[in-house]
Amino acid sequence: MSKQITYLNVVEVKQPVNVDLKAVIPTYSQILSEGVLKEPIVVEKTTMVVLKGYETLEALKLLSAEKAPVLQVDSSKVKVKSLQAELKPITLETILMAGVRGPKLPYNSFNVQIDVEIPTVEVSLSELNVWRRVEGDRLRVYNDTLELLYKDWPTPLVRLRSFSSEKRSVWAKLEGANPYSNSVKDRIGWSMIMAALEDGRLGDILYEATSTNTGIAITAIANLLGRKTKLFIPKTIQKASDVFLKVLGADVVRVPVGLTVEAIEEVDAKSKAEGATHLNQFENDANLKVHLKYTAKEIDEQLRSVRLKPDYIIGGLGTSGHMSAISIYFKSRYGSSVKVIGVQPAPNEVIPGIRRIETGMKWIHWTDFDQIIDVKRREAIEGVLTVARKEGLLIGLSAGAVFHAFTKVAEDEGVYVLVFPDTGYKYVEQFEEYFQSVG
Ligand code: PLP
Repeated sequence: MSKQITYLNVVEVKQPVNVDLKAVIPTYSQILSEGVLKEPIVVEKTTMVVLKGYETLEALKLLSAEKAPVLQVDSSKVKVKSLQAELKPITLETILMAGVRGPKLPYNSFNVQIDVEIPTVEVSLSELNVWRRVEGDRLRVYNDTLELLYKDWPTPLVRLRSFSSEKRSVWAKLEGANPYSNSVKDRIGWSMIMAALEDGRLGDILYEATSTNTGIAITAIANLLGRKTKLFIPKTIQKASDVFLKVLGADVVRVPVGLTVEAIEEVDAKSKAEGATHLNQFENDANLKVHLKYTAKEIDEQLRSVRLKPDYIIGGLGTSGHMSAISIYFKSRYGSSVKVIGVQPAPNEVIPGIRRIETGMKWIHWTDFDQIIDVKRREAIEGVLTVARKEGLLIGLSAGAVFHAFTKVAEDEGVYVLVFPDTGYKYVEQFEEYFQSVG
């Protein structure tokens, strides 16, 4: 290793640029697939502000790396070319200020030329402390309920004994173990609100179109931060949701649409007109990010702890946030040997939380899925019953759909991971209707 390279804690390296998430994904994928980092981040030596390797720094953050290899250069060796034709030109000083104090500069708004030879490096992810060494706080004592959320990750990964055999193991990732909404959506509620808070974008009232879970998660966290929420819920969602949300103090508006995503334009217009913050789970990259950084990596670390690598990962598609992140992560790290399967409702079927790809999803187009499986509502509910009666877990409808999809692709061998987004307790009305229909 070149003597010029030093290691800094990632938190000490200062990012002067707002890097588009889409531009970070290739670097993130490359580091994961090679298992090593080959270029140091170049920083100015008195401030530790990045001059080269903006995407690398963001990728290391997404990998939860603790350390970063850096090359520290003197500012006399640096030339900056501003690409902001009409605006105030960007100089080295502007960049250093943006890194130290903010606000960050737009991506691709300047070029930096460095008159120093940049050595290559070969640093493994373990050397950067990417992988977990301790297993969390075993005694489970938390200073506040937010810690109960993010310090309690990973959510459990449990082997489903009744569906496993000597050659096949089937694992469920229990996202219902998150504390607020008892669903996968706590992760994005936290991530979107924290990102808005950091950028100074978090207003006093938050508007969101939601099918329940995101609404509960956002309201819970908003309550901790002294904010209010107004939630727009499609008419197709169970009545019980209004009650849960009112208990939490949210203002609930039922909208005459079938799918949550169909309410976005209205929510966006209303939030602008009424000075509210629209986090917008369907477009907000903090959604994909939290699943890259935590959900996907958790599954990998959990399976590696029992010396396994998944052959199939199956999960539902709503915003496509969690399954797109899982696909990006696993295909980068293990290539096409990991098959990723998305689950959507069959045409004209309603399964809360998931919807059909043609209704428009952002991140699914950033990666590849090996198969998409259509599931009917009845099949999803029957999946819930099977899992409840064999394994004792009362899972939600979209989780039941994931289980049904598993039964369609299951072979006698292999390692299967089923992502169960929530528990069944919110869906009493749907279960009741099902029991009435079957007599
Ligand atoms: N299942 C349930 C119960 C959900 O609430 C959601 C999201 O709303 C999903 C599945 C889909 O997750 P994602 O939005 O990450 O695609």
